[in-house]
Amino acid sequence: MKAGIVGLPNVGKSTLFNCLSNAKAQSANFPFCTIEPNIGVVNVPDSRLQKLEALVDPERVLPATVEIVDIAGLVKGASKGEGLGNQFLGNIRETDAILHVLRCFDDDNIVHVDGSVDPIRDKETIDMELQLKDLDTVEKKLDKVKRAAKTGNKEAQKEEAVLLKLKEGLEAGTSVRAVTISEDDREEFVKPLQFITDKPVMYVCNVDEGAAATGNAYVEKVKAAVAQENAEVIVLAVGTEADITELDTYEERQMFLEDLGLDEPGSAKLIRGAYRLLNLETYFTAGVKEVRAWTIPVGATAPQAAGVIHTDFEKGFIRAEVIAYNDYVQFGSEAKVKEAGKMRVEGKEYIVKDGDVMHFRFNV
Ligand code: GDP
Repeated sequence: MKAGIVGLPNVGKSTLFNCLSNAKAQSANFPFCTIEPNIGVVNVPDSRLQKLEALVDPERVLPATVEIVDIAGLVKGASKGEGLGNQFLGNIRETDAILHVLRCFDDDNIVHVDGSVDPIRDKETIDMELQLKDLDTVEKKLDKVKRAAKTGNKEAQKEEAVLLKLKEGLEAGTSVRAVTISEDDREEFVKPLQFITDKPVMYVCNVDEGAAATGNAYVEKVKAAVAQENAEVIVLAVGTEADITELDTYEERQMFLEDLGLDEPGSAKLIRGAYRLLNLETYFTAGVKEVRAWTIPVGATAPQAAGVIHTDFEKGFIRAEVIAYNDYVQFGSEAKVKEAGKMRVEGKEYIVKDGDVMHFRFNV
């Protein structure tokens, strides 16, 4: 599962990517500086892990991770192949969620490809390219389905109706995720086509240092413009946060953040947001060797969760011993939780809850 960073050139994508992954993607003040998609694996900040660490005192602590891809080069005309556009659109198709970066800062030294700062226009430019690409997909599919529909095939006629609705929506500038289609039809006809504008999206407003905690007028405009989309909007001073990551000590970084009016880096919020957007959650294993956060899709069963550790754990699953995170912290150790009768034994049908601390019993 991975989230892709999209946005026009020079809005701060690669600065954000660097700041997230500390990878050395190029960042320079001109369009097209990051040509290859960059993939980074980012730790998911989770204060529960520190709490468990303090209680268990393990040899090592391993956080959950999420994959972030920096997708550069999206420009006006990308869907028609402008500026290597099609290649980039292909990269977006391979992601599971989209982090859409919008420039919400003024700086005459940083060239804007369209000559002025206007996050709403920028968003529409990007959306349009993505929608045009999806329109291609719809039209190709429609060609095939139409023939079958003409022969009287009921299923094909149903599909044709859904596709026509999508086509109409996309032509009017509506993303697939916002076109009104029943759950069943979505599942059957829309999902398999893997539309780009059907992926969950989060907007990242890149602001100047002074607006990191408060946002600014651009951010307000963005919030108003996306209100109907039910999407999260995050405010981030990308350039400043990149500077903070250069500081040597935790104390220095913390002081810098406090000066900005923040209690944690905005990038931490962003990473957790991406994790949610991907519909992922965390369970823990807590032993003296290792305290570790494991990533599962929301709704995973106990055997599926075990399978994340090792496929054998899933195949040979017998049962899981489960402690709710809050119980673990309240009683302070596994032994005390057991004494209090708060450890549960769960079977194959158990749906794992975010924060569960788990042991698996399995046959080999
Ligand atoms: P990309 O093309 O979207 O990947 O943009 P970059 O990350 O390469 O950023 C383009 C330029 O804008 C670089 O010179 C960055 O240092 C600068 N930049 C990025 N974020 C900010 C910000 O929040 N404020 C200001 N003033 N400049 C920024």
